[in-house]
Amino acid sequence: MHKLPGLTVLAGPTAVGKGTVSTYIRDNYPEVWLSVSATTRAPRPGEVDGVHYFFKSKDEFERLIAEGEFLEWAVVHGQNTYGTLKSTVNQAIADGKSVLLEIDLQGARQVKEALPEAQFVFLAPPSWEELVRRLVGRGTESAEEQQRRLETGKVELAAEPEFDHTVINDDVRRAADELVSLMGLTPHPH
Ligand code: 5GP
Repeated sequence: MHKLPGLTVLAGPTAVGKGTVSTYIRDNYPEVWLSVSATTRAPRPGEVDGVHYFFKSKDEFERLIAEGEFLEWAVVHGQNTYGTLKSTVNQAIADGKSVLLEIDLQGARQVKEALPEAQFVFLAPPSWEELVRRLVGRGTESAEEQQRRLETGKVELAAEPEFDHTVINDDVRRAADELVSLMGLTPHPH
């Protein structure tokens, strides 16, 4: 299928490091137009409304859903709701920007339904063992919670064949450079 060069969707399993790669791109690749999602989650220290997210109340988010304002939206980790606003993304594509969406797998599937000509990139861990290490994290989770995360990780990893390309997150800078190349841009010398 002919791919829309202007729109790339980055997704992958929980804890693979999507956020780190997109933060690296935000800081180093101003030529990438990184979509700012709306969310019902509360800002973390240092997060700025309109830069990291558009922070919304549950009522505002519900209203935006009802008004059909989202290209995709999903409840992530069974907690907060996140979504990509159609208006801003469509405008950026129309302006000829290189648009990047960093969203979860459920959202990526919705974008594929709506815009199959977008480019879909799966961010994968270097190995299953490494994903286990990142998922289980600091060892502060209960055995039950760890098991739940591992099951989720296994299901999420199985989504890889739905994507056009896989980028392995072995090193944040290298992975970001590869992603930028897939977007048709030139990686910077470091
Ligand atoms: P965090 O709360 O740590 O910033 O993000 C949690 C998760 O939400 C990440 O997996 C991220 O990919 C996902 N996410 C962020 N924005 C969106 C969005 O607009 N749509 C969807 N579907 N997921 C999102």
